[in-house]
Amino acid sequence: MDASPRPTPPDLEFEAVPAPIRLRPSDPTEHQRVVVNPFLAVLAVLAWGELTHRLIDGPFPPLFVLPILGLIFLPLLVQFHCLDCGRTGSYPLRSRHACPGVLARSRLAEAPRSRLPSARGQLILWAWAIGSVGLLWLVAA
Ligand SMILES: [Zn+2]
Repeated sequence: MDASPRPTPPDLEFEAVPAPIRLRPSDPTEHQRVVVNPFLAVLAVLAWGELTHRLIDGPFPPLFVLPILGLIFLPLLVQFHCLDCGRTGSYPLRSRHACPGVLARSRLAEAPRSRLPSARGQLILWAWAIGSVGLLWLVAA
C-alpha cells in the first residue's frame, strides 16, 4: 500500500506570511460620466439679485441680509446629470452617486469613455463662461 504524502499546511509560526495586498479604494467620481448643469443656480442668482435690490429699496433696508443667507445653499443648485442611468442630482452630492455603470467601470478600474471633460473641469468652464457673461452684462449696464 502506497500512501501519498498529504500536503502539509504552512507553519505560520516559522514561515513568513505575505502581507495582504491593499488596493487603493477607488473613487467613484473618477468613473462617472456626468454633465454639469449650472442653470438652476444661475436662475437663483438672478432672483437673489432682484430680491436684494427690492429689499434695499424697501422700507427696511437691513432685510437685504436675509437673501445673503440663502447664498449658502447656492452650490446645492448646481446639478449633475448621469449619462449612464439618467439620474439628476446636486453637484456637491455627486460623490455619493454610484449607479451600475459607474460601479462596473470602478471594478474594472476603467476610465469612462467620454469626450466630455471631467465634472470638475466642466464646472470650471461654466464658471468662466457665466462669469464672463456676467462681467459683460455689468459693464454694459
Ligand atoms: Zn448614474
